[in-house]
Amino acid sequence: MLKGAGVSPGISIGKVFLLDRRKIKVEKFTLSAQMVEKEISRFREALDKSRKQLMQVKKKLVHDLGDKGHARIVDVHILILEDEALINEAIKIVREERVNAEWALRKVLSRFAKIFDEIEDPYMKERRSDIEHVGQLILRNLVGEKMKRFDKFEEDVIIIAHDLSPADTAQMHKERVIGFATDLGARTSHTAITARALEIPAVVGLENICSFVKTGDPIIIDGTDGVVVVKPTPEEFREYLEKQRRFKYVIQELLKHSDQPAETLDGYKIEITANIEFIDEIPHVLSRGAEGIGLYRTEFFYMDTPNLPTEEDHFRIYKRLAGQVSPHPATIRTLDLGGDKIQSKLHVADEPNPVLGLRAIRFSLKHTDLFRLQLRAILRASAYGKLRIMYPMISGIEELQQANLILAEVKDDMASEGVYYDEDIPVGVMIEIPSASLTADLLAKEADFFSIGTNDLIQYSIAIDRGNEHVAYLYEPLHPALLRLIKFTIEAGHNEGIPVGMCGEMAGDPLSSLILLGLGLDEFSMNPAGIPAIKQIIRSVRLEQATELAYKAMSFSTAKDVEAFAYKEMSAKFPEFF
Ligand code: PEP
Ligand code: MG
Repeated sequence: MLKGAGVSPGISIGKVFLLDRRKIKVEKFTLSAQMVEKEISRFREALDKSRKQLMQVKKKLVHDLGDKGHARIVDVHILILEDEALINEAIKIVREERVNAEWALRKVLSRFAKIFDEIEDPYMKERRSDIEHVGQLILRNLVGEKMKRFDKFEEDVIIIAHDLSPADTAQMHKERVIGFATDLGARTSHTAITARALEIPAVVGLENICSFVKTGDPIIIDGTDGVVVVKPTPEEFREYLEKQRRFKYVIQELLKHSDQPAETLDGYKIEITANIEFIDEIPHVLSRGAEGIGLYRTEFFYMDTPNLPTEEDHFRIYKRLAGQVSPHPATIRTLDLGGDKIQSKLHVADEPNPVLGLRAIRFSLKHTDLFRLQLRAILRASAYGKLRIMYPMISGIEELQQANLILAEVKDDMASEGVYYDEDIPVGVMIEIPSASLTADLLAKEADFFSIGTNDLIQYSIAIDRGNEHVAYLYEPLHPALLRLIKFTIEAGHNEGIPVGMCGEMAGDPLSSLILLGLGLDEFSMNPAGIPAIKQIIRSVRLEQATELAYKAMSFSTAKDVEAFAYKEMSAKFPEFF
């Protein structure tokens, strides 16, 4: 039994298909002077072929999913493939060193990898793997190795691989791939995002699953708990068949009621909204019962366009968002991006510690031209529905004031130009840095709402890298320190009469849901798959039960004790979710 990160929920039981994606062995050849140009055209042909293959995958993804957002992930790969720096550098090596194209490309890829290795941001580390995927694709075409296709399976399979590219994942749809597990990967990887969109159970970050299995081995993937069982015993088979049956039944039952409001038995109403990365996800999240969008992560939009988006590009997207979500509200989070080396148009300085560096609102306040452009587009779109603006990574009142000052200037400009916008557009602050939480009483005086970002709040308050598997055991949402920060934030917000929501992953976790309700959280924004269960839990209790639970949870001194208590209470009340 192996433990990894469950990135797409559900249980699959089946047989292994071991995908050999080991790196291609590259040998070095010296070329004669006459062969150099021929080698370069061979390289260009391989690039061309790779490009066509990626276009094919993209077309298939759009066709199967009807979803341009996730297909744009493949655009990132196409962009890398067309990157002049990469191509020219490889050609230069072929010319100057008179070596074969494979060798030259490998050399360039190693240089890129080295640069990315020095970046600590887990999100950026994933971009290193994007470059590696593209490099492997070109190498395969150079050595003439066929891309393995996923649509030729005679029976259902569970793919096990060292790593999968989003393009690999995209091909799985509607074929006979019922689950997958990989050695590498994290929640923020594009592969994980695609898996969730396709609703294929998946576990990543298993480190060495490839060395434990061979094709044909029976295997179980539990994408809900992040567990993989290799060669299960008859007992384990039965156990997981039952868990799978329960999972399917629960989902079916939950979906029947997911459009009902999240209201406690005594009539206390909570807002349940969804987190999205792409606006193509809206129909799906609404079908899961979301009553609006609590977090639209706009940095994905920046990442997946070849050029820096214009005000018009932003406006079009936000207008669609406003219209499609209406009459519900949609919260647009302004850019939360650090040093993205792929999107070279948004050039950011190298930083030794990007997670503590010039990211999110700090970046926006430094690059005010980009910030103004985004704010203008949001304001223009606010004429077409209920939009809210949210600032990421606010560390204290000064940043909020600076951001609000710019917003006021943008509004003034627009008013004098006669451009219509919602003058009362709510402006919120993400509480995801301890200093923001501890000054929430001050921030609340100048904000219209709070949204607690536990993904980062946990990282910064317990001092653990949210993407580092070696300290993952310390990533404890129910840590007493976290509960205190959350409680303080909610009280500070309520004292000033503003609503307090949460858009970190914790908001979608059934285990913490009633504690959060009891602490007074007003809005839960989450991964759409979690919505039906959280609604169901909230509908099954009286508010005082939740308050009592929260009160007790606050009395323990360790995260383990809080967790054990929450598990005991919740699994007794809601066995179907545990
Ligand atoms: C968070 O930090 O909790 C959050 C929701 O933002 P992100 O995961 O995009 O950093
Ligand atoms: Mg965050």
